[in-house]
Amino acid sequence: MDLGITGKWALVCAASKGLGKGCAQALASEGVNVVITARGNDALQATASELRAAYPSVQVVAVAGDITTAEGRAAALSACPQVDILVNNAGGPPPGDFRDWNRDAWIKALDANMLTPIELIKSVIDGMAGRGFGRIVNITSAAVKAPIDILGLSNGARSGLTGFVAGLARQTRVASHNVTLNNLLPGPFDTDRLRGTMIGAAQKSGQPLEAVMDARRKLNPTLRFGNAEEFGAMCAFLCSVHAGYVTGQNVLMDGGAYPGTF
Ligand code: NAP
Repeated sequence: MDLGITGKWALVCAASKGLGKGCAQALASEGVNVVITARGNDALQATASELRAAYPSVQVVAVAGDITTAEGRAAALSACPQVDILVNNAGGPPPGDFRDWNRDAWIKALDANMLTPIELIKSVIDGMAGRGFGRIVNITSAAVKAPIDILGLSNGARSGLTGFVAGLARQTRVASHNVTLNNLLPGPFDTDRLRGTMIGAAQKSGQPLEAVMDARRKLNPTLRFGNAEEFGAMCAFLCSVHAGYVTGQNVLMDGGAYPGTF
């Protein structure tokens, strides 16, 4: 299927590794020019080189910076001639007990996982509407649908974003101009972040890492973790011309782990 987005420009935030990289790869493979960001420049440049080698016809611009800061967002936006596609992503907040979190911890989580995507959306959405095409995908978490108790900061901040996006996506001045906003909700995907969590669990339990990972895989109906390529493919479809009638949705990618019928 031709996704019909060749030549568009995408800003893919937090994309040197993991799910963001999967989205950048899938978009570049469809002929989309990409601006990718991350804080660490080495991994970012390595990913940019990988994308340029794999997709020589697309432009790949790498912007090192923290997307949760105003400077990071300004640098990313100014590197993109026009933002036709925005993929919002950033690192997730740490786990813990809400009794230990003070206001600063909450503000940090809200900044990264709610206010940063909202600021970026604000910067690009009217331009998208004016041009008659826009696709915004927010990487959130399966925890928005089925909260994970130790991830209260994530549950809270991402649910705030989800509620905001639900309202914005349905504004006529957005939807009638072929601008869609959707959220992608990852369950367990095999990325550095997941591995980091598993290493922590292995150290805590004294079990080997592979045993902990295997036990976690067995909790999923597919008996495996998702991979970034699968995630990117769904993102690219939501960004395609074919998905113009899909907006304000929360697309869960969890291998069937969520037990509900809907
Ligand atoms: P990952 O493999 O650790 O990759 C995170 C990427 O984001 C890296 O490129 C990282 O590069 C970049 N990044 C992090 N913070 C950033 C910031 N402030 N500014 C710019 N770039 C930043 O993580 P992932 O698994 O792909 O997770 C992506 C998102 O999905 C996270 O919010 C995570 O909580 C959520 N999620 C993941 C899973 C899963 O199973 N993997 C499940 C549910 C939700 P630098 O560190 O160099 O900046």
